Amino acid sequence: MKDYASMALRFYNTLTHAVETFAPQDGKTVRMYTCGPTVYNFVHIGNLRTFTFQDILRRWLLYRGFEMMHVMNITDVEDKIIRNAMEKGVSIYDYTRPYEAAFLEDMATLRMQRPEKIVRATEHIPEMVSAIRTLTEKGFTYESEGSVYYRIAQFPEYGKLSHIDMSGNKAGARVDVDEYDKDDARDFVLWKSRRGEEPFWDTPLGAGRPGWHIECSAMSMKYLGDTLDIHTGGIDLAFPHHENEIAQSEGVTGKPFVRFWLHAEHLMVEGQKMAKSLGNFYTLRDLIAQGQQPEVIRYLLASVPYRKKLNFTFDGLRAAQTALERLRNYKLRLETTKFPEGTNEAAAEAAKRARAAFDEALDDDLNTAEALGAIFEFVRETNTAMDTGAFGQGNVAAAQELLAHFDYVFQALQPTAAAGALSDGEIQELVDERTAAKKAKNFKRSDEIRAELLEKGVVLEDTKDGVRWKRK
Ligand code: AMP
Ligand code: ZN
Repeated sequence: MKDYASMALRFYNTLTHAVETFAPQDGKTVRMYTCGPTVYNFVHIGNLRTFTFQDILRRWLLYRGFEMMHVMNITDVEDKIIRNAMEKGVSIYDYTRPYEAAFLEDMATLRMQRPEKIVRATEHIPEMVSAIRTLTEKGFTYESEGSVYYRIAQFPEYGKLSHIDMSGNKAGARVDVDEYDKDDARDFVLWKSRRGEEPFWDTPLGAGRPGWHIECSAMSMKYLGDTLDIHTGGIDLAFPHHENEIAQSEGVTGKPFVRFWLHAEHLMVEGQKMAKSLGNFYTLRDLIAQGQQPEVIRYLLASVPYRKKLNFTFDGLRAAQTALERLRNYKLRLETTKFPEGTNEAAAEAAKRARAAFDEALDDDLNTAEALGAIFEFVRETNTAMDTGAFGQGNVAAAQELLAHFDYVFQALQPTAAAGALSDGEIQELVDERTAAKKAKNFKRSDEIRAELLEKGVVLEDTKDGVRWKRK
């Protein structure tokens, strides 16, 4: 059994405003909930920044020896969805399913692991109704025109997550945009009564549909219990969504809802808030259509620590591409060079140092920028050592392990295969055929093969150790 406490894995907790040492309640399994997408459109790169952070978080928790029970919801009923579906004359299911599928595809394109459970709001209406009924029994709700509201005044701890002083927010000062009547502007809707042609469910609360906030409380507690280890989302969700989740869940159970709240800062584009009206709004699909590589996008999204604003720029993408090229060239050099026999002490030490620095950086609230710094420092040092003969064959394995460890987290070294691209085996076959052709002085054929490979994005380099190839 590992001594988890001594590893000092720590996260900044929005709830306490402090960096705290993390371990799951039961010492073994991390119960984590992520607010998933509202599937009324393709997700944008801002959303994907937050999801990339969550992927790195879960990868790092797994690496640190914990098991994951990670739940993510899909919001498939909500005002915008209903409006868009009605405009198109289709059901909310027919409207949302393709966007849900596209989201899962985007996650895979960016090499994200799937949470253990992905759950749809529309499949948990009974759980939401039951939570609302418990809140009513405990005196946290009131009804108005068939809708049910949460009475914030009944929950004195309201505001403890976002540290927002709510005292001035009385009726009239609209906080949560809503068309329903409320006693107090801070109150929020739990259940919306049926309106017009909108979709509804017949329930003991009457005909209607759930508010957005109750969905996350009901689903997270169903699968993860009363108290979660970690809850994540983008910073915009801290208030009011997560504040409302706390009020609901703690209202139902009387127990702390979440131990660690982790929030990702927003992504900006060229220094501005991303907006369709500014023409700086990008989905992953937009960028890929422009010819950008998914793993370069992932690398860029991952390279800025999650609590810092990320300014997405096309220069930044180019820099990410260059950084990755450097790592790929280094990997290739390790694979194809015949280094002097033996193990160089200084290079062995450098590998150990880099590994320790990388791990320490990620333990420190997922400081991805420092972790990358450790890798590039190692590459710089050992490239120099290789140039001067101070890197031995015995150093290769440790360097390769370090790269593999980096790539377990960042998932960026392997180029994404373009449609119709050659597999490694097919490339090697052509390379071997070309070598044979050259030997037989059939230069026409060897040039043909070089050109064919180039056209398919593979570059050849003749070195004293033989032919190296890499994907462009
Ligand atoms: P939504 O589908 O709007 O509920 O958002 C899905 C996730 O993306 C949530 O965790 C949001 O907080 C997050 N998010 C939305 N916009 C941005 C942005 N510009 N940068 C980073 N995260 C964002
Ligand atoms: Zn949520």
